[in-house]
Amino acid sequence: MNSDIKEVLYTREDIKNIAEKIGSQLTKDYAGKNPLVICVLKGAFLFMADVVREIKTYAEIDFMDVSSYGDGTESTGEIKIIKDLDVPVEGRNILIVEDIIDTGRTLNCLVALFEHRKVASVKICTLLDKPDRREKTVKPDYVGFKVPNEFVVGYGLDYQGFYRNLPYVGILKPEIYKNN
Ligand code: 5GP
Ligand code: MG
Ligand code: MG
Repeated sequence: MNSDIKEVLYTREDIKNIAEKIGSQLTKDYAGKNPLVICVLKGAFLFMADVVREIKTYAEIDFMDVSSYGDGTESTGEIKIIKDLDVPVEGRNILIVEDIIDTGRTLNCLVALFEHRKVASVKICTLLDKPDRREKTVKPDYVGFKVPNEFVVGYGLDYQGFYRNLPYVGILKPEIYKNN
């Protein structure tokens, strides 16, 4: 285990199992619907890769990069589109894949954006949910795990760009970020 990690919450095996479960549900829910599955970069890249390989029906894949966080552990309250989609979304069934929902600001903005772009439907799939921290209404349709109010890293989630490559989700030791 990386020595900056206080506790491992979910192993690669736990995540693989939940991705299979969610994937088979998505296969049923999106059969014949030709969904556009959108990975919210960068945090969702590993979970996205796991989930889409479990979707056994036609699905199109795209990527968006939005930022709400800067380099710290607190939301800035604004989202900035760094990379938009490559395809138009009007009339499409959208599935957003996220790493974690915290205050809900990011996804609340994204869902509003897709509604503005006149999608047929928009649903949310997230690896992690921190419901205690919610400020904006966001109801994820597919949730991997609910996490306590702690700053977690790994399996795509970063602190200042690091830890994304850890093959598990763990709680970062507070002394790593408390002086920043
Ligand atoms: P929200 O807009 O819901 O507050 O936050 C969404 C984004 O904040 C997530 O996609 C993620 O990038 C970041 N975030 C929120 N909580 C955590 C956390 O515990 N760990 C990490 N690494 N990022 C987080
Ligand atoms: Mg994210
Ligand atoms: Mg981040």
